[in-house]
Amino acid sequence: MIPFPPPPPRNRTSAERHRRAAAVARHVAQFGAWCPGYGVPSHTSRDLTADHVIARSLGGEDGELRVLCRANCGSRGASGRQGANA
Ligand SMILES: [Zn+2]
Repeated sequence: MIPFPPPPPRNRTSAERHRRAAAVARHVAQFGAWCPGYGVPSHTSRDLTADHVIARSLGGEDGELRVLCRANCGSRGASGRQGANA
């Protein structure tokens, strides 16, 4: 019996990208092309990305993801500019 899968390796893997993509897909399926906003009111967006609610450096590696637009909200998320090192 395996109650939970093992945690992912602590770097940016294809599995992690897939998990983020799945989070975005779930969000779009539920809410549509809609950014909940981060420091700004919610608004429509077609360029959504998933961000860690808790910064990975603070232990949020496999934690909850939050979906925000890449252009306006994702770049100022609490976990910082993690998209810049791909
Ligand atoms: Zn936004």
